[in-house]
Amino acid sequence: MTTTLITGGTVVSATGRGQADVLVDGETIFAVLSPGSTLLGHDLSGSVDTVIDATGKYVIPGGIDAHTHMELPFGGTAAIDTFETGTRAAAWGGTTSIIDFAVQTAGQKVFDGLAAWHEKAAGNCAIDYGFHQIVGGVDADALDALPKLIDEGITSYKMFMAYPGVFYADDAQILRAMQVAADTGLMTMMHAENGPAIDVLVEQLLAQGKTDPYFHGVARAWQMEEEATHRAIMLANLTGAPLYVVHVSAKQAVEQLAAARDHGQNVFGETCPQYLYLSLEEQLGAVSEKYGAFEGAKWVCSTPLRSKAEGHQDHMWQSLRTNDIQMVSTDHCPFCMKDQKELGLGNFSKIPNGIGSVEHRMDLMYQGVVTGQITLERWVEITSTTPARMFGLYGKKGVIAPGADADIVVYDPNGHTSIGMDVDDDGNPTGKKHHMNMDHAAWEGFEIDGKVDTVISRGSVVIQDDAYHGRAGHGQYLRRGLSQYLV
Ligand SMILES: [Zn+2]
Repeated sequence: MTTTLITGGTVVSATGRGQADVLVDGETIFAVLSPGSTLLGHDLSGSVDTVIDATGKYVIPGGIDAHTHMELPFGGTAAIDTFETGTRAAAWGGTTSIIDFAVQTAGQKVFDGLAAWHEKAAGNCAIDYGFHQIVGGVDADALDALPKLIDEGITSYKMFMAYPGVFYADDAQILRAMQVAADTGLMTMMHAENGPAIDVLVEQLLAQGKTDPYFHGVARAWQMEEEATHRAIMLANLTGAPLYVVHVSAKQAVEQLAAARDHGQNVFGETCPQYLYLSLEEQLGAVSEKYGAFEGAKWVCSTPLRSKAEGHQDHMWQSLRTNDIQMVSTDHCPFCMKDQKELGLGNFSKIPNGIGSVEHRMDLMYQGVVTGQITLERWVEITSTTPARMFGLYGKKGVIAPGADADIVVYDPNGHTSIGMDVDDDGNPTGKKHHMNMDHAAWEGFEIDGKVDTVISRGSVVIQDDAYHGRAGHGQYLRRGLSQYLV
């Protein structure tokens, strides 16, 4: 077995930080040692196979992105990152595990949908991966399949209160599924937006000639998110099912979550970097020379970017500090402008929904540490430790401790990262960072006062010295346990 010693760094956990050396044996962490400890020998760095010098740097548990959509079919096309390109980009950004969504559509058997996702991912991932199960058709077969998912290492499933005719579940279906979840301990994940009402607004806006991407955000009003969030909370309350609301973007939806949590309910919320940094006015309303007002299509996602003037972004940062929102995932669902986002030229409702962010989550959230929005420990907590606990991976993932998988990121607070396309329109290198499979960068121009230095996945170096050393197929399927975060 290969042994590795990470020396001189500051090990940061969700609860504190301190100088320590980390000894890795094979794929797992063997010991976390006081600097200079001679307990295991007088010259440990001389006796291990590899020494990684982390002097002046942070040593953190690898990032866990609990919400990605590699190769997701959507709106007549499919998300452009494969499991291979998407997990490689994730590794570049210090993420060492993803939890993607296997999809069952209406009329399909849940286990057929799951098998299809295993086939897409197996042998292709650079980092470890797990699945949630999307239930796009809550029928008798699906209700029967739900408890059996637990034996497959899938302990969470997702329903949609949006997208009528595609993934939509009505209140009766949600109630039935939640009853099963309450009995079995499955985590119900919810896309909480009132889809039928939104579709009326979409139709009316289009009839008025309001077809630009900006109106995607107008149609998907915050009232639709707050209402659906409240309804999901009440159905969860009635049944006793734990509830996790995905991609929360409206401050009013956060208030619903916070109120339920104050009453002791097992209700949780996730937000994404785009809801912390980007807005209706600045991105969905953007105009460029190349695309005109269609520029905003780059940031069409659901829930939508919210109005900066209404203060959603500031409120979301605060919610991360107060734990009204527990964690940050990306909802990574990348589409190119060419041939993909362009499907919605002249009709915003035809723009495939999604932003590519899996590479940048750790950096973007670290910048929140730099600007004083969150602490260093909270950064680790919301990007790694809580995702591990929320979805039954903690102990193996989300912590630097003996016995845990050696998923470790060395992060350099004195480094710098410029995010954006790596080549310009003329093909000249820009020096910016971009390894996702898209023809544009949704985070173009973002500057990070920090840098991913070294990334280790189960003991193997994946990223070092600005080079990729990983391989497709290194990543293993993660069988998850039940949530370790319930109150
Ligand atoms: Zn999603």
